[in-house]
Amino acid sequence: MLQKVEGIVIRTNDYGETNKIVTVFTREFGKIGVMARGAKKPSSRLSSISQLFTYGYFLVQTGKGLGTLQQGESISSMKYIKSDIIATAYASYVVELTDKGVDEKTPNPYLFELLYQTLNYMNEGLDLEILKMIYELKMLQVIGLYPHLSSCVSCGETEGAFSFSISEGGFLCHHCSGKDRNRIQISPATVRLLRLFYTFDLKRLGNISVKDETKAELKTVISRFYDEYSGLMLKSKRFLTQLDTFNNPL
Ligand SMILES: [Zn+2]
Repeated sequence: MLQKVEGIVIRTNDYGETNKIVTVFTREFGKIGVMARGAKKPSSRLSSISQLFTYGYFLVQTGKGLGTLQQGESISSMKYIKSDIIATAYASYVVELTDKGVDEKTPNPYLFELLYQTLNYMNEGLDLEILKMIYELKMLQVIGLYPHLSSCVSCGETEGAFSFSISEGGFLCHHCSGKDRNRIQISPATVRLLRLFYTFDLKRLGNISVKDETKAELKTVISRFYDEYSGLMLKSKRFLTQLDTFNNPL
């Protein structure tokens, strides 16, 4: 059956001399893999549509097994992302997290919208670290993880100072801080932003400016939570970690 889908290329693999297998996250069907015959040749009409990060419409022949990409219409090639090595690194992480975090052919229009919006903002030059962290927080629910951010995970307290406990899976209030010797000390700004990023609509992201110390705390909490619970190993994370070390030498 021939189907037209709206999607974003989240992975490409070379296949033989001239072909590519393209993984597309679609609004209609979730993640699908399609064979793009001849797409490695620059002259191919499938060449531009089968590039990583490309957003557009894909005409796909589906059947048993892998579908075949027949035609495509690129709406955005995410030009800025591709031209900037740092933006490429962050966007690569976001698409790899999506690829590893979702099952094939499981529609999730909410996540599609979120991915599209995130890449679009990255392409417009918005804060890459913040966008990555918002995406990671929202992706948690997709992979079935629910950090306790509404109150103290132990006693339910909603007011006062909080730390974050990886082992308890959420905030600890100052009365309960003794429950976890390895709790992460965080500022009230970090508490507020963790809650905000987890729940708010990304479309409403305005001009956000976050202090470097707050960013560092957010990064520690999110990264350690993922390491502990997600079970995901992402190739693109290594380069981001190297960037961090380069930017913040000890
Ligand atoms: Zn408590």
